[in-house]
Amino acid sequence: MSCLFCRIAAGEIPARIAYRDDSVVAFHDIEPRAPTHVLVIPREHVPSVDAIEAGHGPTLAAMVLAAQKVAHEVGAERSGYRLVFNHGPDAGQSVDHLHLHLLAGRKLSWPPG
Ligand code: AMP
Ligand code: ZN
Repeated sequence: MSCLFCRIAAGEIPARIAYRDDSVVAFHDIEPRAPTHVLVIPREHVPSVDAIEAGHGPTLAAMVLAAQKVAHEVGAERSGYRLVFNHGPDAGQSVDHLHLHLLAGRKLSWPPG
């Protein structure tokens, strides 16, 4: 298994886990861009948001619910938070395993970069 995030999901590579269940794992980004920067990934290897199909609906819902849970744990439901999928070079996708960024804990500028 060569995919970095599959290996994190399998526990083969250490990560600071924020949440996990049967279908998703959430862990802190190694290079945080905000006081809270957590990545939520499906245990299933999906290369990108561009590879999502209708059947992935439950997985996507589980990812958003995990992000929401972590956001609430850090008290960001009132101050606010941002959820981001990057796809492809123009968006700066650097890991080819679907991941949802949760950013919170500071004012986030808009539009992003
Ligand atoms: P993206 O640029 O949208 O593909 O996001 C990939 C994210 O994965 C980046 O924010 C990286 O800092 C993060 N990342 C890469 N390797 C690791 C790792 N081993 N543990 C935690 N986060 C990582
Ligand atoms: Zn993978």
